Amino acid sequence: MFKFGLIFYLLTKIQSEIKVCTDACNCFFNQIDEDLKIWTDGIHRVDFEKAAGIRNTVHYQIIDGHIYRSEKCLFGQRCKGIEKFLIEIADSISNVEFIINVYDHPIFYRDPSQSVPLLTFSKPDNRNHYHIMYPAWTFWQGGPAIQTHPSGLGRWDRLRDEMLTAGDKIPWNEKIDKGFFRGSRTSKTRDPLVLLSRKKPHLVDAAYTKNQAWKSIEDTLGHEPADIVSLPDHCQFKYLFNFRGVAASFRLKHLFLCNSLVFHVVSNGGDWLEFFYKRLIPWQHYIPVSPDLSDVEQLLEWAQLNDTEAQRIAIQGKQFIENFLTLESIQCYWKELLTRISRLTTYEVTRNTTLVEIKLHRHNEL
Ligand code: UDP
Repeated sequence: MFKFGLIFYLLTKIQSEIKVCTDACNCFFNQIDEDLKIWTDGIHRVDFEKAAGIRNTVHYQIIDGHIYRSEKCLFGQRCKGIEKFLIEIADSISNVEFIINVYDHPIFYRDPSQSVPLLTFSKPDNRNHYHIMYPAWTFWQGGPAIQTHPSGLGRWDRLRDEMLTAGDKIPWNEKIDKGFFRGSRTSKTRDPLVLLSRKKPHLVDAAYTKNQAWKSIEDTLGHEPADIVSLPDHCQFKYLFNFRGVAASFRLKHLFLCNSLVFHVVSNGGDWLEFFYKRLIPWQHYIPVSPDLSDVEQLLEWAQLNDTEAQRIAIQGKQFIENFLTLESIQCYWKELLTRISRLTTYEVTRNTTLVEIKLHRHNEL
């Protein structure tokens, strides 16, 4: 048994080492330090050209407060979700250019020992992935389209409020005392929880839903697809599961706002990150679950037997995301990231006339 003894040790150690952000603006700059540390000698034109040579990426320039972009963006809504933040900061940063990957998955450069200054929204937490993370488009628009949000999950500020309201409506002791997960089979890492739910429905309610790629019941592990459950409705349950999908799943930040306890399944070979993940601390903000889920039953049992402790972690997680992951902190992140890239760039950025100017109004509304 690890079991509960180890958990108590971890809880005590973590409580004594808590390092909290004090300022929403710079809370996540630790990730910028980490992503840019290999570029201490500067980003040279040859480095930039390597990133620019990768197919289906998007080239941006910000010059004298104007934003220019490759004419074609593979996913138009995603580029708009990025440009919302560029528009807000363009006047306040030095000239800069950068290449963005708008796919879910990072684009691996042919030779992994070579680094490329390519911006991507998610990457695995291990040393072979040099990409530079940016805050995903979905904080504003272009997020996954599901029945409850047919034009895509978007507007983090609005969904945050909806989630907080839903979380406040159901007191902790009225939540259903079970683990919960709804989502599609974008990664097989989710299978063990769905199988456990079929075997022990009193412990976990986890089922696969349909996404656009669904072809047959094979894609929902041999069962008919479950109905979609809106994110605010997740708040009825006490323990909410997050897994990687194709890359990091957008659901994680929402789950915290329910005032429920988040069980975050860490992936094999390094957790799939977004720019804010490294500030989330296991046992302080969430319960870490091993990739094969071998410990999940014991962890759920621990939470059920230690309700006060479980609630305390749930509240800490909620407060952290509520206070620090805001549209303001995302804008600060973009500004710091591009300012540092501009400083590291060793050549003069001059207007590339193949790019088109992005002229949108400030506070571009959906
Ligand atoms: N989602 C939801 N209710 C559901 C299924 C999915 O709210 O019943 C949300 C989910 O939280 C995520 C998005 O839809 O933000 C896409 O989920 P999916 O599992 O399809 O893909 P993922 O991006 O997690 O791999």
